[in-house]
Amino acid sequence: MKNPNANLSLVPFVSVENMMRLILEIGVETCMVEIAAYIEEDFRRWPSFDKTPRVASHSDEGVIELMPTSDGIDYGFKYVNGHPKNMKDGLQTVTAFGLLASVDTGYPVLLTEMTILTAMRTAATSAVATKYLARKGSKTLAMVGNGAQSEFQALALKSICGIDNLRLYDTDPAATEKCIANLQAAGMSITACTTPEEAVIGADVITTCTADKQYATILTDNMVGAGVHINAIGGDCPGKTELHKDILLRSDIFVEYPPQTRIEGEIQQLEDDHPVRELWQVMTGASDGRTDDRQITLFDGVGFAIEDFSALRWLRDKIAKTDKWQHLDMIADPDDPRDLFGMIERERARSN
Ligand code: NAD
Repeated sequence: MKNPNANLSLVPFVSVENMMRLILEIGVETCMVEIAAYIEEDFRRWPSFDKTPRVASHSDEGVIELMPTSDGIDYGFKYVNGHPKNMKDGLQTVTAFGLLASVDTGYPVLLTEMTILTAMRTAATSAVATKYLARKGSKTLAMVGNGAQSEFQALALKSICGIDNLRLYDTDPAATEKCIANLQAAGMSITACTTPEEAVIGADVITTCTADKQYATILTDNMVGAGVHINAIGGDCPGKTELHKDILLRSDIFVEYPPQTRIEGEIQQLEDDHPVRELWQVMTGASDGRTDDRQITLFDGVGFAIEDFSALRWLRDKIAKTDKWQHLDMIADPDDPRDLFGMIERERARSN
C-alpha cells in the first residue's frame, strides 16, 4: 500500500467518490462509532487545543464559515456553508471540504470532501452528547427535520446510545418519506408523524435539525416533558434558532465552546451570563451532567472546529490502510527551495 505522506508535496486527497467507497467498506454506523471515539478523545484533552469561534461571513441567503483549530502537532480547518434556500434550487444546504496540516512543516497532509464527513461528525457529536446526558435506557428519538443530516443522526444514536424507536416529523412529507426509505434496513421501528406534537409523544430524546434562516419555533415549551434530552442542532447562526426561549429557561444547557455558542446557538436568546456547562467538562468529570431523571438536558450543538479536527484525524488514520485516496499535486516544491521562479522556467524548457 502507498504511504499517503511519503512525498510531502503531493497531498493525499479524498474525493466524494472515495469517501463513499470508504464508508461502504467500513459501514456508516461503524464510521460514526469510530469518529465518536476520536471526538471523545479530543474533547478529553480540550485545553491542549487552540480555540476560536469560527470565522463567519454572512449574507441575506446564508453563511460561509472557516473553522480552524490545532493541537500543536496537527492543524485543521473546514470550509462550510449554510444556505437554507439552496434546497429549493436542488442544492445542498450544507457543503464542506477540509484540510489537515503538519504544524512542524506547515505542509498539508490531507485534503478531503467534508459534506459527508460533516454529517457523520455532527451525528457522532449528538450521539456523544446523548450518551452523557440522556436518561439511562433511552430508546425513543423524535427527529424533527428529516433532511440531509437526519439519517446520520438517527443511526449514530442507534449505534452509540441504543435508540431503536424513531419518530419522524418534517414540514415536507417528502423528506420524511425519503428518511424512512433510507432507514428501512436499519433495524429501527419508525413512525412518520404529521405534527411535531405527535412526533415528541413518548420521546426520551428529541433532535431538532431543521433549516430556516430565522428565529423559528420548532419546539414550544409544552412539547417538552420532564426527563427529556434535546439535541438542538439546526440553530447554528446569529438569528437562526429552533427552540422557544421558555424551553431554555427550564433546561440544563450544555455547549461545545461558549464564546461561539453564545453567538450562534439557542442561547443567543438568553442573557450573556446565563449559566451553561461545557460538554468536554462533563466527559472529564469536571462538571455535572444529568443528575436526576426529571431534569431536561439540552445540548445546544452548533458544531465546533475540534469535531472536524477529530473527523480529519480519523480519516487520515483510516485511509493509510486503504486505496481510497489519490495524490494531489497541490504544493509547489522546487528542488532548490529558493528557486521557485526557476521551477517555472524549467517547466518551459521541458514543454518546448
Ligand atoms: P436540509 O435542508 O437538508 O434539511 C432541513 C429539513 O428541515 C428539510 O427537510 C426541511 O423541510 C425541514 N424543516 C424546515 N423547517 C421545518 C420545521 N419548522 N419543522 C420541521 N421541519 C422543518 O438541511 P440539513 O443538511 O439536514 O441541515 C439541517 C440543519 O442543521 C441546518 O440548519 C444546518 O445548518 C444545521 N447543521 C448543524 C450542524 C451542527 O454541527 N450543529 C452541522 C450540520 C448542519
